[in-house]
Amino acid sequence: MEAFLLEQGEKPFRAIQLLKWIHQYGVTDFDEMTNISKALRVRLKECAEVRPPQIRERYDAADGCHKWIVEVASGSSVETVFIPEAGRGTLCISSQAGCSLDCSFCATGKQGFNSDLTTAEIIGQLWLANRELGCFGTKSPRRVTNVVMMGMGEPLLNFDNVMNAVSLMMEDNCYGLSKRRVTISTSGVVPALDRMKDYTDASLAISLHAPNDELRSQIVPINRKYPIRELLRSTNAYLASLSDSRQATIEYILIAGVNDHRQHARELAELLRNTPCKINLIPFNPFTGSQYKRSSNAAISNFQKILRDAGYTVTIRTTRGDEIGAACGQLVGMVDDTTRRSARYRALMQQDAEQSVPVRRLKIQ
Ligand code: SAH
Ligand code: SF4
Repeated sequence: MEAFLLEQGEKPFRAIQLLKWIHQYGVTDFDEMTNISKALRVRLKECAEVRPPQIRERYDAADGCHKWIVEVASGSSVETVFIPEAGRGTLCISSQAGCSLDCSFCATGKQGFNSDLTTAEIIGQLWLANRELGCFGTKSPRRVTNVVMMGMGEPLLNFDNVMNAVSLMMEDNCYGLSKRRVTISTSGVVPALDRMKDYTDASLAISLHAPNDELRSQIVPINRKYPIRELLRSTNAYLASLSDSRQATIEYILIAGVNDHRQHARELAELLRNTPCKINLIPFNPFTGSQYKRSSNAAISNFQKILRDAGYTVTIRTTRGDEIGAACGQLVGMVDDTTRRSARYRALMQQDAEQSVPVRRLKIQ
């Protein structure tokens, strides 16, 4: 913004004024930016615009969650979800329309991939949530206290735009969120994770979901390229680069009969021995076409107990917003798939329905 204003022959401090108008007051009309000179406002109107993304649809769940379907430039739409909890409000933001990584349990992955979101489309989701929740302006209470990059897409495959948007989230003159309250979640794009420390000090979540390479490669295909050992090495290096002592969040989805056996919990406890982390267990959220089932409550609490007994902090993510399809892994937007995966998937669903193919069970040693 400073560079842009310098180009206009303006002083760099005007950048702060503009950022505040846009991101703290939610103003889109340059004429309302009253501390900016008339001449500059006229010039801004000629060469720039403040254009928030358009909301296509809005869903409100009985549990207080909201989901917005937001249109992006490529013509696809993505989903943004607000989850209120006691004392905080978490916004789950998308980074891509679809996802190219195709994890076996994820509805977004099954949609295929269309496009990377621009920086504006990513930060625009936070802007929209603030507007929709009535939080712009000095006197309104802040309702979005946390941001998680856990919507549609793999944030580290849209690296530059995600890093730019995240820095606006944490910028005092914009949203001023603390680095502990902005979380980037990745399924393990190791080379990008290795670079992350040079761009941000946001918090990190790792979508691990399996305690060994054999199983992880089956459900998180990117593991075939970057195996667990590499991923944990990179995770530790990122944590070590931070100026405070912080833990990674290890996300582990629990799918009945696939990765929820006691032996998996014991193996996981061993695997994470040298990684500063807390573990978040996510009961699988079903979506149309998936044959996976959520683990039983007994399996979930056994899994938690084994990890707790091994000394870990373990939380179980409560399912929120599933009546509006806003729960983890249910986000699909309207993705105009360029990879043809969605067509393949639809064909497969059809085949499965006809032949009733059983879910593949994995051997437990
Ligand atoms: N691509 C990134 C961020 C988006 S996914 C990543 O994978 O980390 C956000 C989280 O939702 C991930 O932990 C993901 O594994 C989880 N998730 C995906 N599908 C799910 C499902 N069907 N039920 C529960 N969680 C799911
Ligand atoms: Fe992509 Fe994450 Fe879904 Fe995997 S879990 S397909 S990386 S969005």
